[in-house]
Amino acid sequence: MKHKASATVERFMEGLRARNPGQPTFLQAVQEVAESVIPFLEAEPRYKDAALLERITEPDRCILFRITWEDDAGKVHTNRGYRVQFSNALGPYKGGLRFHPSVDLGVIKFLGFEQILKNALTTLPLGGGKGGADFDPKGKSDREVMRFSQAFMTELERYIGEDTDVPAGDIGVGAREIGYLFGQYKRLEGRYVGAITGKGAGWGGSLIRPEATGYGCVYFVNEMLRRNGEGLEGKTCSVSGSGNVALYTAEKLRHMGAKVVTLSDSSGFVYDPNGVDAHKLAWAKDLKFNRRGRIKEYADEFGAEYHAGERPWKVPVDVAFPSATQNEVSGEDAAALVKNGVIAVGEGANMPTTLDGIDVFQRAQILYAPGKASNAGGVAVSGLEQTQNSMRITWSAEEVDRRLSDIMVRVHEQCVQFGVEGEHVDYVKGANIAGFVRVADAMLAYGVM
Ligand code: NDP
Repeated sequence: MKHKASATVERFMEGLRARNPGQPTFLQAVQEVAESVIPFLEAEPRYKDAALLERITEPDRCILFRITWEDDAGKVHTNRGYRVQFSNALGPYKGGLRFHPSVDLGVIKFLGFEQILKNALTTLPLGGGKGGADFDPKGKSDREVMRFSQAFMTELERYIGEDTDVPAGDIGVGAREIGYLFGQYKRLEGRYVGAITGKGAGWGGSLIRPEATGYGCVYFVNEMLRRNGEGLEGKTCSVSGSGNVALYTAEKLRHMGAKVVTLSDSSGFVYDPNGVDAHKLAWAKDLKFNRRGRIKEYADEFGAEYHAGERPWKVPVDVAFPSATQNEVSGEDAAALVKNGVIAVGEGANMPTTLDGIDVFQRAQILYAPGKASNAGGVAVSGLEQTQNSMRITWSAEEVDRRLSDIMVRVHEQCVQFGVEGEHVDYVKGANIAGFVRVADAMLAYGVM
């Protein structure tokens, strides 16, 4: 079954396509939102008359820049850097930096657009933005990553600041890269301010920030299940990816008594029917965060199955957590999950499910949590990091975790408020409309600009 949009959505998308050629992921992200928001606008002329959907889909500004750096052999390389400052209606621009060869303007715009609504759902004072570069940290030495990160920040520094735009990590930008980026920012500015989040706990970072996206996603799914008289205890779960989001999702699932049977990376997935226990998880963290190895080594170490070049969605599970990258769950993958009895899907990644895949989940009426709601925990704790930096205090891990959990409950409540349809909750519609309304109300208050 191919995804089909209504005539009004198609008319809106036609204009957007003409203005944004060659940006398929951006168009996909907007289409998913437009399909929820346009029918809502028809009944709310004050938003429609102010052309808010048209305004919110055009970034405040897109910054593109050259990054030139030298590798260990003295060879000179040039990459392209991006920062899309999408909307500061609710607070300073906020969103991560992605270092991956697939990064282009369309990818950064899709991520920035998702970020506006996600950040609105946290109810914290955060605008939406995103950035990155087409640089691949894989296979580079620490020194090369350092030189690249410093060159990247030398240009970005003039556009960001604690009250202007506050970047964080994303794919390919973890603790190591944030260290180099923040170090260079601080050196150029000559002052120490919280203009980047995801910093190490010993130098201005918030406790629980590394865990926040994964933990938050599990809290969100737990809320969906709870509303249906269910829980995570005893559930079998698949997780894709083996980066920051995936491994902390696996960790919290284990805390809650669920069994994680898959992990993956861009080369393939491991199937471990005995479950990823505490020892295996600690080993996987060391593999991915310190040794920067491949997930196949997990299969070799623990005698699990390894499926090269495949994604984990054919494995029968109760709950699935796509936590790697965009468009990693196709219509066919979604159909396989549904056929095998999946009851809930919690997206840790941004837009991991294609529009066809979303249709499959929606028709089956499973509990499907779109990333902009279920992965909002990462940016929420980044917001809490900004607060701690401004107040020059450090909250305990328990305090941050409690606030994170409260925020995820609030995100869930807003999705229910705008997405409830009889017995069922359409979390896509709920998240899109709830996020949109918060941003739209602020834009209305500011007048035409
Ligand atoms: P990491 O770089 O830590 O990990 C990314 C993981 O995804 C790796 O296992 C990587 O495998 C895999 N991956 C990346 N690209 C692809 C691909 N094209 N196909 C298959 N697998 C791929 O990133 P994060 O864990 O931080 O981010 C994962 C997702 O979560 C992204 O969508 C990100 O935008 C989203 N997200 C992250 C937040 C955060 O706080 N970090 C917050 C909210 C959302 P390999 O090593 O082989 O590349």
